[in-house]
Amino acid sequence: MRNNYALCLLSLMLIVSYKASANEISGISGDVIALKANAASTENLIFKYDQSDYLILGLPYVYKTSIKTIGDVNIKVQFKNFGESRITIKDVSKVDLNKKDRERANAEALLIRAAIQSYDTSISPSFYFKNPVEGIISSRYGKKRFINEKPRSPHLALDIAANLGVEVSAPLKGRVILTGDFFYTGNTILIDHGFGLISSYSHLDSSIVKEGQMIQQGEVMGAVGETGRVTGPHLHWTIYLNKEKINPENLLKDNFLQNLFKASQDIL
Ligand SMILES: [Zn+2]
Repeated sequence: MRNNYALCLLSLMLIVSYKASANEISGISGDVIALKANAASTENLIFKYDQSDYLILGLPYVYKTSIKTIGDVNIKVQFKNFGESRITIKDVSKVDLNKKDRERANAEALLIRAAIQSYDTSISPSFYFKNPVEGIISSRYGKKRFINEKPRSPHLALDIAANLGVEVSAPLKGRVILTGDFFYTGNTILIDHGFGLISSYSHLDSSIVKEGQMIQQGEVMGAVGETGRVTGPHLHWTIYLNKEKINPENLLKDNFLQNLFKASQDIL
């Protein structure tokens, strides 16, 4: 089946043509959607499946239903209430940062932001994600977060709790584009899977990969830890697609791609 999804890598500029249609393209906060493209050339992902081209886009998290423009496509992104999570961080210096820590955290945020601009067309993502760690989901994507009772940014990642030292492996092949020991996320690895699909692994106890290294699906990258700002050992797993943080749990569902194509919307 996998060979049916040959990636079309022919073109780079976004030229998607539209059919005047009353149908609005829509999707849910943090989802991935497939749009039937008219042999489009694009900076986003184009998959060929069953004689058609599909543009695959990640939708942003939204605080309320709103129209977002991704590439040249206007999409109605629907708000979803993912619930909330309240955590207590005893070390208040990790919540109310002093000047030095704030400067450090800001500099690291810029480093991460620069890394996710990466757009490597030499790697073709299959989208057949494997679970990166054996554990228990401890916090899902999209939850409104309160730290020490104060509202904070929503949790746009999947937390998988596991014992210290449990192996973390690459869910999909890619290239390591950033590693570091960061204020919030502790020991962190970012992997570029190609065409704007990037994932990150945080709070690791140890990391055994180097920047620039290619890593295969299932290859061990490090071990679960509790570095950075945490309440206990877990993996904080973030996935970016076209620079939006999407819901990692969706990608682990059986037949993810087939169902995505089945539900595709028409922009011809
Ligand atoms: Zn998390």
